[in-house]
Amino acid sequence: METAKIVENVAFNILKQAVIYLPEDVKQALKQAYAEETSETGKTQLKAILDNIELAEKYQAPVCQDTGTIIFYVKAGAKARDLDKVEEALINATRKATKEVPLRPNSVDPFTQKNSGDNTGRYIPFLHWEIVPGDSLELTVMTKGGGSENVCVTGMLVPGEGIKGLKKFVVDAVIKAGAQPCPPNILGVAIGGGTDIAIKLAKKTLLKPLNESNQDPEIAKLEKEIFEAANMTGIGPMGLGGKTTVLGVHVDYAFRHPASFPAAVAFNCWAARRASARINANGTVDYLTHKVKG
Ligand code: SF4
Repeated sequence: METAKIVENVAFNILKQAVIYLPEDVKQALKQAYAEETSETGKTQLKAILDNIELAEKYQAPVCQDTGTIIFYVKAGAKARDLDKVEEALINATRKATKEVPLRPNSVDPFTQKNSGDNTGRYIPFLHWEIVPGDSLELTVMTKGGGSENVCVTGMLVPGEGIKGLKKFVVDAVIKAGAQPCPPNILGVAIGGGTDIAIKLAKKTLLKPLNESNQDPEIAKLEKEIFEAANMTGIGPMGLGGKTTVLGVHVDYAFRHPASFPAAVAFNCWAARRASARINANGTVDYLTHKVKG
């Protein structure tokens, strides 16, 4: 089979996997939250979420009616073949998934307000490219819900306030977001670079499994502190009160300009959908996040 067709098929499969089956780490975190939640209302909401996940799997239907904006992260081996065909293949896969899974058409021209009807449009699906050594092609898809996207924030903090200022910035964002991002949420937090770099890093950390803390012990400690502070807000599942407001926090950073302290918080909702696969040079495919195929 030609490379473009393989890429299209694999992209279709991971898109379908992502919108139906939540990653195991997210399901585990939700189950743990249900076991530990002390608020009755919070528990009821978590139970509804867990039932929803089970029904989506049983009926092979998207886990949420909002199937999000489609973003692909492409790790292209420098020696991989036909890289010039990848973008078109991902667009074709998006159109096919919209029709066949189906996905909700979520791509609107901001000037005319016209919905393209197939989840494609200028820059959509959005592609993040990374060139890596080797000859394989790794595709990851994130389908990013609107409710959680609406509360993502960037800001310029005061350099002198450092990490203390960052913690306040994140907790303020969580309080301001309230029920909007369908909590419990996963927070991607990043500092440094510039605003564009910070939000890009923050969103990319949402691809990390929840049980994977930062390898730097100091940053892992910060992740835990933000996690605890966010859960002390009492916003709770679906914003109805409880101790589970976030399921996890990932932090990343870039070096910064001496005068600037850019920061970003990317929210993901409980429907934290992502799936990955690697296409090897010989055309074989390894599905990296989901055991379920197709
Ligand atoms: S924020 Fe997430 S869970 Fe809420 S409606 Fe959007 S996609 Fe669904």
